[in-house]
Amino acid sequence: MIPIHQPNLGPAELAAIAGVFDSRWLGMGDVTWRFEARLREFLGSPEVVAVNNGTSALHLAMESLLPPPGAEVVVPSFTFVASIQAILMARLTPVFCDIELDTLNMDVSDALDRVTPRTAIILPVHYGGVPCDLGRLVPAARSRGLWVVEDAAHAFGSTYQGRPIGTHSDATCFSFDAIKNITCGEGGVVATPHAEVAARLRVGRLLGMDLDSWSRRQDFLGGALNVRAPGWRYHLPNLNAAIGLAQLDRLEEFRLRKRAIVRRYREAFQGLPGLALLRHPEGVFPFNFVIRVLDDRREALARFLKDRGIATGIHYVPNHLQPAFKRYYVPLPNTERAYREVLTLPLSTNLTDQEVDRVIGAVTDFFARQ
Ligand SMILES: *Cc1c(COP(=O)(O)O)cnc(C)c1O
Repeated sequence: MIPIHQPNLGPAELAAIAGVFDSRWLGMGDVTWRFEARLREFLGSPEVVAVNNGTSALHLAMESLLPPPGAEVVVPSFTFVASIQAILMARLTPVFCDIELDTLNMDVSDALDRVTPRTAIILPVHYGGVPCDLGRLVPAARSRGLWVVEDAAHAFGSTYQGRPIGTHSDATCFSFDAIKNITCGEGGVVATPHAEVAARLRVGRLLGMDLDSWSRRQDFLGGALNVRAPGWRYHLPNLNAAIGLAQLDRLEEFRLRKRAIVRRYREAFQGLPGLALLRHPEGVFPFNFVIRVLDDRREALARFLKDRGIATGIHYVPNHLQPAFKRYYVPLPNTERAYREVLTLPLSTNLTDQEVDRVIGAVTDFFARQ
């Protein structure tokens, strides 16, 4: 079976893990600081705070902006469940908005229409690595006194208007889980321009303590272990940061390979009747490859590909239709249509040209038969 996603791990990642193993300091420490410093430089963001996954990044970022308890967060329903659970973890209220069908990103007009006096945050998701319309969203949020927190779990390495995702809003949250553009095994970061928000993130990720364990070890005799606030056990260990550092060295290799595969898919599928491609602007580091299958033929295509050893997926089941979030239901026509049409095809840097040809052959074969 050709998988949809797969991490690209090699000798460099293994050597990085071995280095941490030999140091006998597996938890948060100097490797974590090096990872944060590399990301500050790469993103051009003044503050980068590493945490243990992307969900923690979202939760802690929202909490660190100090919104009033129960305040509303406008968020697309068409996202991974983590975006919504993070809102609830921060004791805030999700308000679902619709998407544009050609990008599957937040429809900014619809999002702004859902702002009320209780709204504190707008939380866009850069679906598939394609930035949403930040040029419109960020100024509109500012003028209404709202924060923008980006779920950029798909968008590490993408740029918007020539600047990296991670430099456009109040807080940008990345995930480095096993299938994302780069991985730490498990990991995440928050990038923010606000020093006081970063200070809260650093305390919040470490059970409310204002000294990290590394400096405690260096200075434990004089080190006051001050617990300043409620907090979570959300720090990124050296062991995971080491994998992330090794992956950062290979980012260009990953970007080029994924872009090359996407280019071949798009050339092959362009103009196939019954299939709609998403918009693919410049500056995108593609996370996944999603098509829209028209005329109610999505299940048939998925079965056809499965029989030929090609895995597919549906990303995502809209959250407003999930039993857990029933009380936040609103009708969302584009989201519900996208749910019937989307199909995720394999996209990973490990795919061989032969495997890409197999996917292309099977998809074009399916549409030729009808
Ligand atoms: C992966 C993902 C997350 C959560 O990241 P984790 O590291 O898995 O916690 C959040 N939002 C989206 C859109 C994601 O794809």
